[in-house]
Amino acid sequence: MSTEWQHQLREFVNTIDKLKQYVNLTLEEENFLGTTETIWGTTPYFAALMDPDDPTCPIRRQVIPSIKEQQNRYGMSNYLVWKENRATAEQRPDCIARQYYDRIAFTVTQSCANYCRHCFRKELVIDGNLDLDFDVNEGLDWIADHPEVRDVLVTGGDPFLLSDEKLEYLIRKLRELAHIEMIRFGTRLPIVLPHRITPGLKKIFSPYHHVPIWVNTQCNHPREITDMTAKAIFELLSCGVNVGNQAVLLKGINDDVDTFRALHQKLLTVRIRPYYVFYCEPAPGIDHFRTPLEKGAELIRDALRGHTTGLAQPMYVLATNIGKIPLMPDYYIIKMTEREYTLKNHKGQTTKITKIP
Ligand code: SF4
Repeated sequence: MSTEWQHQLREFVNTIDKLKQYVNLTLEEENFLGTTETIWGTTPYFAALMDPDDPTCPIRRQVIPSIKEQQNRYGMSNYLVWKENRATAEQRPDCIARQYYDRIAFTVTQSCANYCRHCFRKELVIDGNLDLDFDVNEGLDWIADHPEVRDVLVTGGDPFLLSDEKLEYLIRKLRELAHIEMIRFGTRLPIVLPHRITPGLKKIFSPYHHVPIWVNTQCNHPREITDMTAKAIFELLSCGVNVGNQAVLLKGINDDVDTFRALHQKLLTVRIRPYYVFYCEPAPGIDHFRTPLEKGAELIRDALRGHTTGLAQPMYVLATNIGKIPLMPDYYIIKMTEREYTLKNHKGQTTKITKIP
């Protein structure tokens, strides 16, 4: 029986004619869409959140390809091979990416429900430059042979696009491995296709189990959050699945104080815990989304720290081939003597605390 989420995918907005049902395209947008071979598209639900008349709309810029994607001054070619350590000596199936000893990323599909224009995996999911084979059973066998792996991040593409049967199989197989302590999913579907959180999916997650499931979604602007998002997150939480957010810092979309604060406050109103803000990675063709590296730390300092609840504070990081590098603001300790620290808060006020030898 077809459900609403499958219907949304059947009606996927990936032609100029369909897109025109949602926005009035500019000449530049329409010309580029008419010539580009890039994969693009989104769900009718997410398309309806775009501003029909504003080409700078933060949702629209994440959905509609820009001619700027053809420029590449600062992006690294073969970025994903570098980032995911695919050229190192350890033999791994294509579906396993490793940057840490005890946790791995397990790619199970190349399909997405929104082909985000800023995606760091765009060589894989959008440009189709990488010929990789994502064999789930091969990945499960590799994980079974590596007892040091405690934590599996299931990723894609978007893993929640797998059928209930495939997800149930994957989760069951991972939970059968004695060394797996937690399963994480990276999925944008709670934001771009909240209809996916169905009773059937809840049933797969639901039974109490000592191997918890964590979901991290990606929401980059407060306008991406709707009543449907709130409902989907509540449903996930009601079956024991914790939900965090991994935003990407995007120039002109969320790199100003007001938007950055509103995003993190609104996430909490729908029970999504801000987890990371990622610097927009140097994948090719996305220079136009990238800010200076310091920008995220400035925003944490000026929009969040001291300005709103501690629950709304994500970690700002740069993801690299050697793991994530935290880039948090460093203005707190302004002086240190043998006896004491002098510390500054977000208002510029200072205080002192004794130094422990
Ligand atoms: S859903 Fe994730 S993998 Fe897919 S295009 Fe967006 S950021 Fe990339």
